[in-house]
Amino acid sequence: MTDLKSFYRQQFGSPPARWVRAPGRLELLGNHTDYNQGLVMSVAVDKCLEMAAAPRLDGKIELVSSAFAQREKFSFDRIEKNPANSWADYAKGVLLQLRRSRVNFTGFNAAIRSAIPLGAGLSSSAALEVATVLTVRHLFPFTLSKTGPASPPRRSSSGALPELSKTEKLLLAQLCLKAESEFVGVNCGLLDQISCLFGKAGHVIEIDCQDLTVDHCPMPSGIGVIVCDSGVRHDLADGTYNALRKLCESAARRLGVSALRAIDPRRLEAERSKLSEREYQCAFHVVGENHRVVCAERALREGDLEQLGRLLFESHASSRDCFKNSCPELDLLVELAAAQPGCIGARLTGGGFGGATINLVELSQVERFCHEIAAQFEARTGRKAPVLRCQIVDGAG
Ligand code: ADP
Ligand code: MG
Repeated sequence: MTDLKSFYRQQFGSPPARWVRAPGRLELLGNHTDYNQGLVMSVAVDKCLEMAAAPRLDGKIELVSSAFAQREKFSFDRIEKNPANSWADYAKGVLLQLRRSRVNFTGFNAAIRSAIPLGAGLSSSAALEVATVLTVRHLFPFTLSKTGPASPPRRSSSGALPELSKTEKLLLAQLCLKAESEFVGVNCGLLDQISCLFGKAGHVIEIDCQDLTVDHCPMPSGIGVIVCDSGVRHDLADGTYNALRKLCESAARRLGVSALRAIDPRRLEAERSKLSEREYQCAFHVVGENHRVVCAERALREGDLEQLGRLLFESHASSRDCFKNSCPELDLLVELAAAQPGCIGARLTGGGFGGATINLVELSQVERFCHEIAAQFEARTGRKAPVLRCQIVDGAG
């Protein structure tokens, strides 16, 4: 946090009062299942966004990010979009949702630094949302309950706040999700925000998006988690994501269920004629992903890495051939990964159409894997694919 604090001081001329860290997340398995009330596995990783902040007295909120040249300044009681600084929409959306939940806050300064690549599928957006909500909690302590604000938490003698309960984390995740869907306009699911808040070092997060339960399962030792960034940038706000979601929802409607979670592979085949070809392809992917997560949970618990890896490769093939949310660069990264010694499994991670792949690699082969993938991708495309080694870390705090 040293760099963050000096960045804050350099920007605002005085030291920050509070600082928070929000990790990026990787979807391990369960692609586009979250908004279909399905199952998903993820990990929080050590590429984090950090936010340092201090209250100010004039009621203004001023945000600055090392990733963007321009600051954004607005009044705490007038929170609106500014197209010139749309990066701040994610934070503003959260502030508006907090206001709607009757959380009181006034002005503050905040400085953001981040090691999460933007738009690469590690969910820098959820990290920004979660960092914003935690910053407000630190500066203007509040407790959310299902019925609205409850009595605020007490600081310890050192000024620290109590840990968030599981229920509160879920409420905060839902609030951040609303910020992204209602204010920014990406109608996404809860995977990103839950992963950011519920991460656990060395563990896989298992989320059931139907009853909103979160469990953890240890990641077997001896596995390296590697991210290969294709360099292709999606813009999920451009509607591709929402279009896929609509196809999944119309498939569910035609099958007479509220969400695709209710459909198993056998029923999908039996009722295939009710769907258009594209609806069927999308449903096939989502139903298959739910099934693969169930199998992967078993594989993880039994330490069956071969099976886990196979499921990752199958997931990618399903994205490429059925859901059609891959792209040639992601396909190439997975193809190259599959040919490397020690590669357990690889697939695209996140929304798709670009972004990154997640690769599970035997620790003894990680060094070589990273070198080979980078070199071979460049040789084949003439472009670089940054390769990041990730540690699985605790959630935001
Ligand atoms: P991702 O897959 O990384 O979540 P998104 O397109 O959903 O991609 O979110 C990226 C957006 O989140 C950025 O365009 C910006 O608006 C915001 N954002 C992410 N990281 C930062 C940062 N460090 N500083 C400011 N804004 C950020
Ligand atoms: Mg995002």
